[in-house]
Amino acid sequence: MAQLWGGIAAVFKSWNGKKAISYRRIEQIPDEWGTAVNVQAMVFGNMGDSSATGVAFTRNPATGDNKFYGEWLLNAQGEDVVAGIRTPSPINDDTKNEQNKHLQSMQSLMPATYKELDAIRTKLEKNYHDMLDIEFTIQEKKLWMLQCRVGKRTGTAALNMAIDMLDEKLIDEKTAIMRVEPKQLDELLHPIIDPETEKTARLIVKGLPAGPGAASGAIVFTAEDAVAAARAGKKNILLREETNPEDVEGMRAASGILTARGGMTSHAALVARGWGKCCIVGAGALRVDVKTKQATIVGSDIVLKEGDVITLNGTSGYAYQGSLPMMDASENPRFKRFMTMADKFRTMGVRTNSDTPEDAQVARNFGAEGIGLFRTEHMFYGAGSDKPLFFLRKMILSNTVAERKVALAELYPFVKASIKKTMEVMDGLPVTIRLLDPPLHEFVPQGAEKQAELGKALGLAPEQIRERGEELHESNPMMGHRGVRLGISYPEVTEMQVRAIFESAAELNKAGHKCIPEIMVPVTCDVAELDVTKKIVDAVHADILKRFGLTALEYKYGTMIEIPRAALLADRMAKTAEFFSFGTNDLTQMTFGFSRDDIGSFMNDYLEQKILPADPFQTIDQDGVGQLIKMAVEKGRATKPHLKVGICGEQGGDPASVEFCYKNNLTYVSCSPFRVPIARLAAAQAAIKAGAKAKS
Ligand code: PEP
Ligand code: MG
Repeated sequence: MAQLWGGIAAVFKSWNGKKAISYRRIEQIPDEWGTAVNVQAMVFGNMGDSSATGVAFTRNPATGDNKFYGEWLLNAQGEDVVAGIRTPSPINDDTKNEQNKHLQSMQSLMPATYKELDAIRTKLEKNYHDMLDIEFTIQEKKLWMLQCRVGKRTGTAALNMAIDMLDEKLIDEKTAIMRVEPKQLDELLHPIIDPETEKTARLIVKGLPAGPGAASGAIVFTAEDAVAAARAGKKNILLREETNPEDVEGMRAASGILTARGGMTSHAALVARGWGKCCIVGAGALRVDVKTKQATIVGSDIVLKEGDVITLNGTSGYAYQGSLPMMDASENPRFKRFMTMADKFRTMGVRTNSDTPEDAQVARNFGAEGIGLFRTEHMFYGAGSDKPLFFLRKMILSNTVAERKVALAELYPFVKASIKKTMEVMDGLPVTIRLLDPPLHEFVPQGAEKQAELGKALGLAPEQIRERGEELHESNPMMGHRGVRLGISYPEVTEMQVRAIFESAAELNKAGHKCIPEIMVPVTCDVAELDVTKKIVDAVHADILKRFGLTALEYKYGTMIEIPRAALLADRMAKTAEFFSFGTNDLTQMTFGFSRDDIGSFMNDYLEQKILPADPFQTIDQDGVGQLIKMAVEKGRATKPHLKVGICGEQGGDPASVEFCYKNNLTYVSCSPFRVPIARLAAAQAAIKAGAKAKS
């Protein structure tokens, strides 16, 4: 009895162990759920060579193949299999791979018991309608089932199993759609190593393909180092002899995981697979020395040191030296079929945040139904931005309206080309173009050298550049002269942008395209700001109609809701606005009073001390910010019943936030191109949960 009570207490205590707490945080499992203890008679797999133990999946958890998949060990206890201490044997031929093909399978060594186990596999799937993860022990030839639960799987496996089980009539369409977690889709869209380069890359070691896709990064040897590297924004590969549950946070932080020991059902493999993380286990030739932070390869002169960059192919189990080029793996017919099926249930729109024709095309291929946010200012960053940035700076440094107008005229063709090309890609779909948003001083060069360079080009003394930069300097630029306020002070800046939008649309429509521009005013807090700006829009619109000889040029005029006051006064905002788009990055910043650029220094403390359940900049704070959204939708629609309402903050691609938007009757969510499929699936699942029927 003392032993029994001791065992029970140990299980309850394990709920508050470090590894369990980490795991819960990562998986967002509430602490208050607690755990339970199941008391059952013990069976022993370590009673000689007629005893054994194993772990199996009713289908392959990495690929989804409908093949019984598992590992076993003769004369052993379950812990020996999952801890990755011994490399287990395959249960059958289907589980054989390079590393374990010489080991004897249960199928050949204990054929009768294997058959019994295989029959149980079929029975379990019929009963549970899902892929199961089972644990069994054979004590002196007698088979005992210890545990069975729904099995963790990669995104690829989740998708393949959902479609196979639908075709096998084991599940219906709705269930199939619910079977893939939206975030798992990310894995399917994840890069793989460019196959051509892979052929000639220098192989370091081979192991088991435990988690899909590819990853490259600098080697770290401890979980703590992986966490530190990730915090510093460095991609890293966690290299371990074997992983144990204490490594869970490091595994999460690493871009990829490589271990010397363990099988496909070892802890590292299970956890990595659940997260869709690139992982190779059981690379037997690897010798890891954590003390010296070095690893060697048996039969090779390669020495791997901390910081060395390597690339993992988690789909084949091969690790290579250096950083190899990657390519995208999205053209998958089963993925397309699955997404088409999900769309039959989806009622809320999904758009994209894209600022270039290239991004817009990617998003359109992923099923985006328009652009929900085109950030005008992005043409001033990155490749090809030199010229437009030069004219923008010239405009910013202008001292008079006349000077500013000259600079704006020079800037105009760049702004127009950027807008027009993106609208062309989105032919037939709405494109929401937001007027210039950031504070202007962001664009004035800071260092003396850069100021001198700009001064020379503009014919100004470096001193004048510095002075103007200082004039523009603000103590709190996030709440300073930005967004609509720029246009209030400098109406000619708004005029230039609106002209670029209307002229692009008029030209494209004349050429046979269908453009539906939506002009969006950022950082507003009062309808009067919208009214002042609308006068400029109306004047330019009338002028374009006249110049192009048109009777109509369709467009919409709306605003972002990203200041709490705008949400509070949404009924008034909707008098002028034809649409709202929640800018939940700024709305979260201004509702919490947390600077979105500075939360890195304290957000972890808030999460660790459970002051907040999640980072509100990643997932909508439904209690606070959510209330403002709900109220603004209701107030806005009280003024205009058919007001179009969307969201374009980062949370627009987060599945929980997408569900919240659905429940609050948003017209669409808008997110970055690679999150479009995630949002589509999350919106379909939200509709299914609410009882939606398939559209025919
Ligand atoms: C927002 O604030 O949510 C938004 C989309 O605008 P930006 O991120 O450009 O400020
Ligand atoms: Mg904003």
